[in-house]
Amino acid sequence: MNRNEFRNEPFTDFSLPANADAMRQALRLAAGQLGRTYPLVIDGEPVYTGRVAASIDPGSLSRTIGLVAQADVATAGKAMAAAKRAFDTWRFVAPDVRAGYLFKAAALMRRRKFEYAAWLVYEVGKNWSEADADVAEAIDFLEFYGREAIRLGAPQPLTPVAGEDNRLTYIPLGVGVVISPWNFPLAIMAGMTAAAIVSGNTVLLKPASTSPVIAAKFAGLMAETGLPAGVLNFVPGAGSEIGDYLVDHPLTRFVSFTGSRDVGLRIHKRLGVTHPGQLWIKRFIAEMGGKDAVVVDSSADPEEAATAIVQSAFGYQGQKCSAGSRAILHRDVYDEVLKRVIAKTEALRVGPPEHNADIGPVIDSKAYHKILDYIEIGKGEGRLVAGGAKAEGDGYYIAPTVFADVTEDSRIMHEEIFGPVLAVCKAESFEHAVDIFNNTEYGLTGAVFSNDRGHLEYARDRMHCGNLYFNRKCTGALVGVHPFGGFHMSGTDSKAGGRDYLLLFTQAKVVSERW
Ligand code: GLU
Repeated sequence: MNRNEFRNEPFTDFSLPANADAMRQALRLAAGQLGRTYPLVIDGEPVYTGRVAASIDPGSLSRTIGLVAQADVATAGKAMAAAKRAFDTWRFVAPDVRAGYLFKAAALMRRRKFEYAAWLVYEVGKNWSEADADVAEAIDFLEFYGREAIRLGAPQPLTPVAGEDNRLTYIPLGVGVVISPWNFPLAIMAGMTAAAIVSGNTVLLKPASTSPVIAAKFAGLMAETGLPAGVLNFVPGAGSEIGDYLVDHPLTRFVSFTGSRDVGLRIHKRLGVTHPGQLWIKRFIAEMGGKDAVVVDSSADPEEAATAIVQSAFGYQGQKCSAGSRAILHRDVYDEVLKRVIAKTEALRVGPPEHNADIGPVIDSKAYHKILDYIEIGKGEGRLVAGGAKAEGDGYYIAPTVFADVTEDSRIMHEEIFGPVLAVCKAESFEHAVDIFNNTEYGLTGAVFSNDRGHLEYARDRMHCGNLYFNRKCTGALVGVHPFGGFHMSGTDSKAGGRDYLLLFTQAKVVSERW
C-alpha cells in the first residue's frame, strides 16, 4: 500500500504523439462499447429493473452512450436496507483497511486513465484535457481521502490528565445518500462517494441523470477492489422519482450533494423534517452554484489577465461552478483587456470533443435552451462582442459569447447561466471592482490580476469567496492544494480535497477510562 506523502496526479501532455495516440485508441475502444446496458448494484448484486434511461452524447445526438437501469422507490428501499445492514460491519473495519480499497481503486484507475477519459469525452462532452483533468482529480481524491482516513484514525491529541486514559475517535455517521453532478461526473462523484465510504459510512449513490455510465464504471471499479457488498449501492434514477424518497428516508443519516442552488435548497428544506423512526438530525454537505469573477486591476498585465478570463469563462463550455462568468475590469485597462478577450474568444474552435476542439457541446437540451435564452437577455443588457448564437454541429453547440459594458445590476451579472457566456463590466476603481465582485448571492471562486501589493491585500480580506486566486484563473482547484468550497448560496463550504472534508462524514466519540 502506498502511503507516502500525497502528490497530485500529473496531467497528460497530449502534444506528445504517444499520448495523443493512446487517447485516440481509447476513444476507438470506447466507441466499440457504446450502447451497453448497466444495472443498478444493490448489496453487491446487479439489479435490472425493467426500465432503462438512455445516456446520450451531447456532442453527437444519435450516439447512445449506454442504457442505465432506473431505480424506483421499491428498489431504492432495498438499497437502503442493504446499506443499513452493511453499515453494521463496515463501521468496525479499521480506517487503514478501508483506505486500502481507495488506494487499489486509484491504482486501477491510473492504469485505465485514457479509457476513463474517453468515456468522459463521449458522455459529457469534455475535450481531452478537460477529461484527463477529471480523471486525474478522481485519482487524487481516492489517494488523498485514503490518507486522510488513516490520519484521522490515528490517536487524536487531547489534554493529558492524571489517572485517566482519554481517547477521541472519529466514528462514521451511518447510511449516506450521495447525489453527484454531471459536470465532474468522475472526479466529484468519486470524491463524494469515496470520502463517505472511507470514513466508515455506507452509501447509496445516485448519479446525475446525464452522466450515469461513467458512474456505473466507477461502481464497477470499486467492486473490483473487493469492497464488501452493500457498502456502495448504485441507484441511478430520476430525481423526480426517487430523490425525495432517499432524502426523506428515516434511515438516511446524511446527504452529500453537488448540483444546482435550487435543488440544494430543496433538499436542505426536506432534511429539516423529522420522520417517524428517525433518530438523528440529518447532516447536509452541499456544493452548489457560483457567479464567479475575474477582477483586473489597472496595474495588471492585460495579456495574462485576458488569457485567464477566457480560460475561466469557457473551460468545459463554462459548465463549472468555478467558472469565471463575470470579468470586472478597471476602467484604465478596460479597452485593452476587452480587445484581447474578444480576440482570444474568437480564436476558440467549436467542435466535437472527440476531435479535441476547444469548445464542445453543453450538456443537454434543457441547458442549451436556457443558455440561448440568457444570450437573448444579454443582448438587452450589454453589447454583444463575440458569439451570441448556437454553433454548427449535431449536438448542443453554442458559440462562446461575450457581452461588454454590462452594468453591475443586470441579470447576466447575477444569475448562474452555467454555459459559455461571459459578462464584462467596467469598474471606476479597484475598490469598486471588489464591491461589484461581492454583489452576488454566491461566493465560490474569484481571481484578481494586480501588481499592487496593497490591492491584493485589500482583496484578500474583502473578496468574499471560498477560493480566491491571485494572478491566475479561477478554475482548476487541485486536491490537497486548493481545498474547494464556497460561501453563501454556493454551499456549506465543505472544502472538498482538504483536511476538513472527512470530518463532515464522521462524529467524534470520546471514551474516558478512570485508572
Ligand atoms: N473544482 C473545480 C474547479 O476548481 C470546479 C468544480 C465544480 O464545477 O463543481 O474548477
